[in-house]
Amino acid sequence: MQKSIERIAGDSEGVSYEFPVFRFDGSDKAAPSAYLQAALHAGELPGVVAIDALVPMLSRAEAEGRIKGNITVVPWANPIGRAQYLYGDHQGRFHLGTRTNFNRSFPLLAAPDVTLLPAHGTVDQRLKTRLLQLSIGHDIVLDLHCDDEGLAYLYVHTSLWPAMADCAAAMGVDAVVLWDEDTDGTFEGASIIPYQNVPADVARFDRRVATTVEYRGILDVDGALADSDAEGLYRLLVARGVILDQALSTSGSFTGIVAPIENIDMMPAPRSGAILYEVKPGDRVAKGALLATIVHAPGEAGGRTQVFAPQAGIILTRRSRRIIRAGEDLLKLVGDRKSADARSGTLED
Ligand SMILES: [Zn+2]
Repeated sequence: MQKSIERIAGDSEGVSYEFPVFRFDGSDKAAPSAYLQAALHAGELPGVVAIDALVPMLSRAEAEGRIKGNITVVPWANPIGRAQYLYGDHQGRFHLGTRTNFNRSFPLLAAPDVTLLPAHGTVDQRLKTRLLQLSIGHDIVLDLHCDDEGLAYLYVHTSLWPAMADCAAAMGVDAVVLWDEDTDGTFEGASIIPYQNVPADVARFDRRVATTVEYRGILDVDGALADSDAEGLYRLLVARGVILDQALSTSGSFTGIVAPIENIDMMPAPRSGAILYEVKPGDRVAKGALLATIVHAPGEAGGRTQVFAPQAGIILTRRSRRIIRAGEDLLKLVGDRKSADARSGTLED
């Protein structure tokens, strides 16, 4: 493994940001290559600790001559967000200098050609360019995030499904959300959109992987989960021929939930207040089931408002904080049918 340090100059004198990159050289130029990054939203740490558990497995494979394809690992992809604290609270989702989400406004290139990337911009834009320079060209691109509270699930572009079902099975995730429109420029979108209109021998959808991995909730930073997630990532790399491991049994077929993003009901809160959840991630609910009660006027008659399921489905996520404003989303319900509140593009700001 070679470690190098990336440096991103800040927007003012005397400020710069650094993050490490690990590279494992593959022995077979024809083998698929892989890129993994974690904590683009800098406070989302389940993927960071999964990579911490994965790297020793990669080093062992390297020592035993079993790495076939090149592997690039960025354990903490966002040093700008990592350093952002506001009145004691960590702020890793939006760049405080521009109010831009760190996982939006990536350039969506017409082809997988890094020379098309912009060279200038504010520091967060230059970080995004650098991450794409590091990742574009790899066959497998994994962007490790987490939700508020939730199941383990993947976002996958429809062009890669069901070809990526083996990856979902290898990783042991609970659900896959399929999408086909990115108007916001997510890292995942920037990793797969460039391949949509290029010749099939460049696109290689049979061996391409691009996904946003949502490793459960923000508080699910746990040693046992990190170990099992690292095993899932390792299984994926073996299944796709990046690493050779004949001792590893193959994963079965994927049996989790698969739903188009249009089926997700986000359930905007009708009132502001304190949330009493009646459901948790993984629960199956019927149409009309009580999902949550908002206590908006405590102690007063009529001070509670109940929220019911608009359709049957599975609870995928819910908020980690229990204070909510009117119009903010209460949870993600993966419905059996298209949501009456279906949103185009990304589900959240
Ligand atoms: Zn995230």
